[in-house]
Amino acid sequence: MRVLLIEDDELIADGVMAALRESGAVVNRLALGRPGLQALKADRPDILILDLGLPDIDGFELLREAKRLAPDLQVLVLTARDSTEAKVQGLDLGADDYLTKPFARAELLARVRVLERRLGNAGAALIQIGPLSLDTRQMQASVDGQALTLSRREYMLLKALVENAGVIQTRDALETRIYGWGEEVASNAIEVHIHHLRRKLPADFIKTLRGIGYLVSRP
Ligand code: CA
Repeated sequence: MRVLLIEDDELIADGVMAALRESGAVVNRLALGRPGLQALKADRPDILILDLGLPDIDGFELLREAKRLAPDLQVLVLTARDSTEAKVQGLDLGADDYLTKPFARAELLARVRVLERRLGNAGAALIQIGPLSLDTRQMQASVDGQALTLSRREYMLLKALVENAGVIQTRDALETRIYGWGEEVASNAIEVHIHHLRRKLPADFIKTLRGIGYLVSRP
């Protein structure tokens, strides 16, 4: 799951990022709204966590624009405005849930899990390519009905390849799918994950296009 956090308060942002990363999400964060909109277009996260009180743009305006750009995006709004009108306005503009500051870490994670489940329900839940099936609700892959034991990154990498079957994925594109912006990534990280994945998959399931990237062919 990929999350974009737009929040100008450093303390809150650090807390949200730490909690979500521990729970297994890839989280990128921006402190301003306008670059946030650019990142939504370029980076296409699954979930947006949006602080309504940003220095450069009205939060409601950003929310409206975000939903226009990405109608399937799940949005959790964070706000200090504890008024009913603000909540109603936010929900009317397409926010999927609301969290009033200050909030507990457990509540944040619970709300995000709900959004994540909705996300799974919206997209294709089961992707089948040859002998491989990927159950995106259970986050489980199997080959000929035998469940695979995958690390979180291996699963995310496989999902990225399978969702884009028939389209070559560059190493950079794959890195963006499985690592956050600030995360330390070894230069051979993707190669290493691919190597591990291949030992669990049928021979030649993931093809290497030397100097270009990787490909899972459409059946
Ligand atoms: Ca703020």
